[in-house]
Amino acid sequence: MVKQKIIIVSNRLPISVSKVNGKLKFTNSAGGLATAVSSLGGNASDHLWIGWPGIASDDLSQKDRRQITTRLHRDGCYPVFLTKKQVKKFYDGYCNATIWPLFHYFQTFTNHNDDFWRSYKEVNVLFKKAVLHYATPQTNIWIHDYHLMLLPSLLRSALPKASIGFFLHIPFPSFELYRLLPNRRSIIEGLLGANLIGFHTYDYVRHFLSSVQRTTGFESERGIITLADRTVTVDAFPIGIDYEKFSDTAKSDAVLRETKLLGEHYKDMQIILSVDRLDYSKGIPSRLEAFELFLKRYPRFHKKVVLVLVAVPSRVTVEAYKNLRADVEQTISHINGMYGTVDWTPISYQFKNIEFEQLVALYQRADVAMVTPLRDGMNLVAKEYIASKQKSTGVLILSELTGAVDELHEAERINPNDSQGIATIIKNALTMPRSKQREKLHSMQQRLQSYSVQEWATDFTDQLKQSTKVQAQLSDKLLSTATTKNIVRAFMSAKRRTLLLDYDGTLADFVSSPLHTKAPPSKALLKVLEKLAKQPRTNVHIISGRTREALDVWFGHLPLSLVAEHGFWVKNNKTWAQEDVAFKKYKKDIISVMEGYAQRTPGAHIEEKDFSIVWHYRNTPPELAYARNASLQHDLRHVLNNDEIQIVNGDKIIEVKPQGTNKGTITNELLVENKSDFVLCIGDDATDEDMFRALPKSAYSIKVGLGETRARNQLPSVNKVLNLLKQLSQAK
Ligand code: UDP
Repeated sequence: MVKQKIIIVSNRLPISVSKVNGKLKFTNSAGGLATAVSSLGGNASDHLWIGWPGIASDDLSQKDRRQITTRLHRDGCYPVFLTKKQVKKFYDGYCNATIWPLFHYFQTFTNHNDDFWRSYKEVNVLFKKAVLHYATPQTNIWIHDYHLMLLPSLLRSALPKASIGFFLHIPFPSFELYRLLPNRRSIIEGLLGANLIGFHTYDYVRHFLSSVQRTTGFESERGIITLADRTVTVDAFPIGIDYEKFSDTAKSDAVLRETKLLGEHYKDMQIILSVDRLDYSKGIPSRLEAFELFLKRYPRFHKKVVLVLVAVPSRVTVEAYKNLRADVEQTISHINGMYGTVDWTPISYQFKNIEFEQLVALYQRADVAMVTPLRDGMNLVAKEYIASKQKSTGVLILSELTGAVDELHEAERINPNDSQGIATIIKNALTMPRSKQREKLHSMQQRLQSYSVQEWATDFTDQLKQSTKVQAQLSDKLLSTATTKNIVRAFMSAKRRTLLLDYDGTLADFVSSPLHTKAPPSKALLKVLEKLAKQPRTNVHIISGRTREALDVWFGHLPLSLVAEHGFWVKNNKTWAQEDVAFKKYKKDIISVMEGYAQRTPGAHIEEKDFSIVWHYRNTPPELAYARNASLQHDLRHVLNNDEIQIVNGDKIIEVKPQGTNKGTITNELLVENKSDFVLCIGDDATDEDMFRALPKSAYSIKVGLGETRARNQLPSVNKVLNLLKQLSQAK
């Protein structure tokens, strides 16, 4: 097994393989990601790249495959071979006919097809196998883009300690769009296998976090999602460009020669440049519409301006792309036919990939760059145009629906659907004073230079190491097998033992309804509790926020001590005793405030107990709950305005109850009564922290779930609690 510092995984390798006249041909693609990876430090042998070499395996003999593998190994690349069928269903299908359109807000182009999804899963598993072939348990793995969104979790289950990063190079849409995806939950769960998930902009981060919450219920705080036993960090890392490559090439002889040729060809004319892959997300038809409007409204620019439109061929076999090409070419013919003259063609159109020097020369010579996508994760062309403007001036017109606009705010921002507005901006750009152009370019250049693609890659990998470290510290508190053994041993040798157990979230998973008929204990739990309570010298207390009726129905038949409503009711020797408080008189006011809110808050409802009134919002959309909770608490404080009542935030509830009694005060009383030399307390939420606070140093305390706690240890799930209790119940 090869020991490596970092494994990069992306759908395509930086080397493409093709077959020309029966012979294999290897072509390097010097894309931004390849540059980023080469800047990560260390030797080339410290990095390893896994991906598809770009040729279907059906066209390859065994000998070809061996040759490809050997040749790629030399450059630190390892191929994952895909069949023609997989290319069609996984790549053209799920990746480019489902995810790509949906994530770019083209809902009508989105094709939902079960076969595509099956192939997507199959290919992600192929990638998993390839990574596992080379990874060690502690490897750093950096997965790229929408083709491999299931891979983080697939790898996590095989390598629980690995440091796994994921970066999405396209937008993450708002939940309103994302929710349309039938496999939305599997994809989120796939991504959550990573330690760090990166997006280009903070908007995409927000959309992702909200989709995580809406599909899985996992909450986040300051970009950190807390799962049962791990955390996942989510942040924005706007990808940069290889700034020096563009600024240096712009000064090279080859580019100067090209620029001179362009100058001669377009003598006395201003150039507006448009460069994109021919993709519907780029908004080329609306750009043409705006240009035509400009020609119509400002005839004084006729014969003085040319639009150089470079459309790079992309996904040419996909229907939507074929239609787009026909549409674009027809519009160009129409405009050239309508406005052109014998000595002037308004649009110079090229449907091809152009050489790098030629591209930089165009960037340098162009007076205006028109970058007007309808949606774009980032858009590198905009950044490359700015970086290539060494010693020359120019104006960038940039769509506000690109990721790049956050960093390039000196650009002329446009709404890509507003043809009238764009026509005016084109005129303004062509007449902008040079001093102003220079000033804007300078600010943007400084920003791009300071966060180039090299800095981006280093920043991401540094953050990955950091978040993996933080996570390792967090899991230090997770109950180990050794500590579990200690607890069982201490339980066995104790003269008297006391167990203090919360119910919801500790002994039973949360359910969406607070009704006790909807959240009964499982048979397995009842069996364990019974066995435990029948152990000699053992007192088992269930300390819950539930009503005494609920606890009676569930546990009344067992030899347990019960505490209801966070300590206001205590049942010992078959009778319930009540803490003496005058809460009754406040109930009417509290309920009347809450009812007003419940009527206009879908999913929320009120529960009345003897000593508390509870506002439940587990089924309310999170953003609405957030807004309503703040004003509800404000109104409650206003109405109650006294020291006898407290308002407490619990797990998806707000509880209003008398001051003075809580799970902590009752814990103190029980500990005095029981006088035990073994105390174990298990709980999961804020009200249980009161119990942990009241415990003596010698007690064992466990919080279910991660997050801040006073408990000595943590367990990831209710199931693990049951396992522990089972071991105690069987202890001899
Ligand atoms: N580009 C290219 N061939 C060309 C013209 C441009 O490879 O003939 C490059 C361009 O330099 C840029 C990339 O294609 O780096 C386009 O990236 P962008 O983020 O703008 O759009 P994407 O195609 O990734 O959606």
